[in-house]
Amino acid sequence: MKSNLSYYRCIECGKEFDPNELHYLCDECGRDYLPGMPLKGVLEAIFNYAEIGRRWKERPDPLLFSAVNPEFYPPLPVGNTPFFRTEIMGLESERMASPSYPIGIKFDGLNPSGSYKDRATQLVVADALQKGITEIVTASTGNAACSLACLGASARLKIVIFAPESAPPAKLIQIQVHNAELHKVQGSYDDAFKAALEYTKTHNCMCRNTGYHPLTIDGKKSAGLEIYIQNGFKVPDWIIIPVGDGVILTGIYKAFVDLQRAGIIQKLPQLLCVQAESSDAITSYWETGRYKDAENPITIADSIKVKTPALAHWSVKALKETRGKCIRVSDFEIQEAQLKLAAETGVFAEPSSVATLAGLQKALAKKWINSNEDIVLLITGHGLKDPGAVKI
Ligand SMILES: [Zn+2]
Repeated sequence: MKSNLSYYRCIECGKEFDPNELHYLCDECGRDYLPGMPLKGVLEAIFNYAEIGRRWKERPDPLLFSAVNPEFYPPLPVGNTPFFRTEIMGLESERMASPSYPIGIKFDGLNPSGSYKDRATQLVVADALQKGITEIVTASTGNAACSLACLGASARLKIVIFAPESAPPAKLIQIQVHNAELHKVQGSYDDAFKAALEYTKTHNCMCRNTGYHPLTIDGKKSAGLEIYIQNGFKVPDWIIIPVGDGVILTGIYKAFVDLQRAGIIQKLPQLLCVQAESSDAITSYWETGRYKDAENPITIADSIKVKTPALAHWSVKALKETRGKCIRVSDFEIQEAQLKLAAETGVFAEPSSVATLAGLQKALAKKWINSNEDIVLLITGHGLKDPGAVKI
């Protein structure tokens, strides 16, 4: 199947770029970008929506929205994760839901490396294979690195990882078991991000840094397309999303925007952005209209522990366009929610993912979400990724 990708477009100035060439940020808006600030001049993948809309009517298929020809995907399959509905005690009484409308759960921890990141990695690896590039580098708190190590092994590519030495031990093992080259960075995710960019400048490789490579955003939309299909071709009222860098939030938003551009849906779902209390730069930005780094991000939810979110600007735009909201949750609330979700639904999720349930509980208590709405929790990573964080 040929890709329907037409070009990349800068989300700030609208300049267009050829997707057959390797591009990261807009060469004008991104010129002043320095590591340690939200990305500037991020590129958006623009498709031939008329063609997609026509073919979707013949046969709905998420691959119509793939930015890379699927024949270049690595052999190990990604996505098509379970979506199911279940009741969670306490939530039903608060939302007074009809019994026929329990909470929807999209369990993306069942991807090959155990996290949502595989969706972005699949496209980046395919892009490298299509362009004849044999080495990929990334910075990661853990999950993106595990994902790149895993799918890079599947495609027999050289993989180089820069990860904070504080990443959970299980994730560091997962990186090494796939034979990736691991560089432990003293410092934060932001320091690792900078190290990976410096490596990219001096090596003939592709950079998978989240948000920096445009397909890390577009790859993450596939879960949104699956949710729409698995929900009986209905747009949920709310999708609850754990947010660190803002790339999953933006990816889900992009899924529904693309469906709308192709004339398949009319309305967008509302997005609830859930952040850890100390890693709340996007929430503060949304509340005040002014961007400021998170001062001291310390949380057990390592996958959403970010001082400077890469996609802060696009995330706030997505929240405004979807009439979304933001909420902070504490580590205590996350740990309580982790046990509740595992005990009542069978889903063992890592702390960052289960922040969604903690956030939903608070949003219901605040009456931000109405009693009879269709709610989907996005569970992005498996609990076995970080068993040390469980409070038993
Ligand atoms: Zn630009």
